[in-house]
Parts: sequence; structure tokens; C-alpha cells
Amino acid sequence: MVQHQLAGRGIKDKRVLEVMGSIPREKFVDTADRFQAYSDSPLAIGSGQTISQPYIVALMTELLSLKGDEKVLEVGTGSGYQTAILAELAGEVYSVEAIKDFYVQSRQMLKSYKNVQLSHRNGYHGWQEHAPYQRILVTAAPPKVPPALQDQLAEQGIMVIPVGVSTLNQTLYRITKRRGELIKKPVCSVAFVPLVEKIS
Ligand code: SAH
Repeated sequence: MVQHQLAGRGIKDKRVLEVMGSIPREKFVDTADRFQAYSDSPLAIGSGQTISQPYIVALMTELLSLKGDEKVLEVGTGSGYQTAILAELAGEVYSVEAIKDFYVQSRQMLKSYKNVQLSHRNGYHGWQEHAPYQRILVTAAPPKVPPALQDQLAEQGIMVIPVGVSTLNQTLYRITKRRGELIKKPVCSVAFVPLVEKIS
């Protein structure tokens, strides 16, 4: 997976490639899907949600330019797979999830990571208590960048977020904050589940 799907398509960050080679993706997907855990596609994790294809996980992680000491906010814990990757590459990870069952399951999956804190809450509002964050990663798509996430991004921080109203028309952005202003760079077209307005 690492060589063909990731390095072969231009992922260069050595730490990202190493970590993606070491975290057992099969443990984070439905038992029935385990045989294809390393295939080049998104996989179902229940409740109509998906874990992104390995290339997209690697790309989004690489775009965060993590050095190792950053405080990161992840919106959309889902299976906890991406959270585990962030925990290996950053200082502290705060991850929020809208669906209670995912929050409960991922807490179990991630219990060995002492630098991860999870919360069942609406990521539209970020997680104010621990802000500002040097990095923000959003794994579901809102129609526009939520104001709370803009505010909670630290000066010089980086946010990676898919934006768009329908799955057919979404763009992945890498956003940096300089003197309070957001500088948005489009990266590529993507298809993420929507960031929901109300949580269950
Ligand atoms: N990063 C996950 C994939 C997540 S799929 C992984 O590696 O498995 C997107 C996730 O975002 C889903 O779990 C969905 O429930 C969650 N989500 C959607 N809207 C949300 C919101 N407003 N706040 C928090 N989480 C949300």
C-alpha cells in the first residue's frame, strides 16, 4: 500500500509514509471489510460513514506539515484511524465526533494513546476549551469553512478541509492563517460525507 498507492502517487513526507505502514488499518474497519482494508478505496465504517481511501488520508496528513509538537484538532473521529496517525505525528490530538457510537468505539480503539482526547460534540463549533490549535483537520465537508474553526486556528496555523455543498463538487483546501487572515489554497477535488449541522 505504502509504495504503490502513496509514495507512487507523490506522498513524500517520510514520517507519514512510515506511520501509514505501521498502523493496522484492518483493525479500524468493519470485520466484513477486513480483507480489503489496504485496497485503494474508501471503506464503510457504519452509519453511512466512510474511512477515506489511504491516499487521501496520507495526502491530508502530509498537507498538515506536522513536525511533532503541534496541538491538533480533528473534526470527525469516525473509526479513529486518522486520529491514530495524527497521534503518532503530532504532540496532542483533540478529536470530536457527532455520532455517539463512533465516539464510544474509537475511545476503546485509541485508549493506548495518551496524547489523544475525544469528545462527542458538534465539530461545527470546534472545541473552544483547548483552542488555539496549530493544526485543524476536518474529515467531513461543510458548505463553507465554519467560523468557529477559523477562530480556533492559531496564528501561522494550518487547516486542511474539504469544502462544498454536494459530494460531486467539493474541493480540498489547505488554509494558513497570517496576521488573522486566512489564505486558502485549493489542492484537488474530493468526495467527503457532509459535515452535519446537528449531532445525534
Ligand atoms: N477520519 C475518519 C473518517 C471520518 S468520516 C476515519 O479515519 O475513520 C466523517 C466523520 O465525520 C463521521 O464519523 C461523521 O459522523 C463525522 N461528522 C460529520 N459531521 C460532524 C460534525 N458536525 N461534528 C463532528 N463530527 C462530524
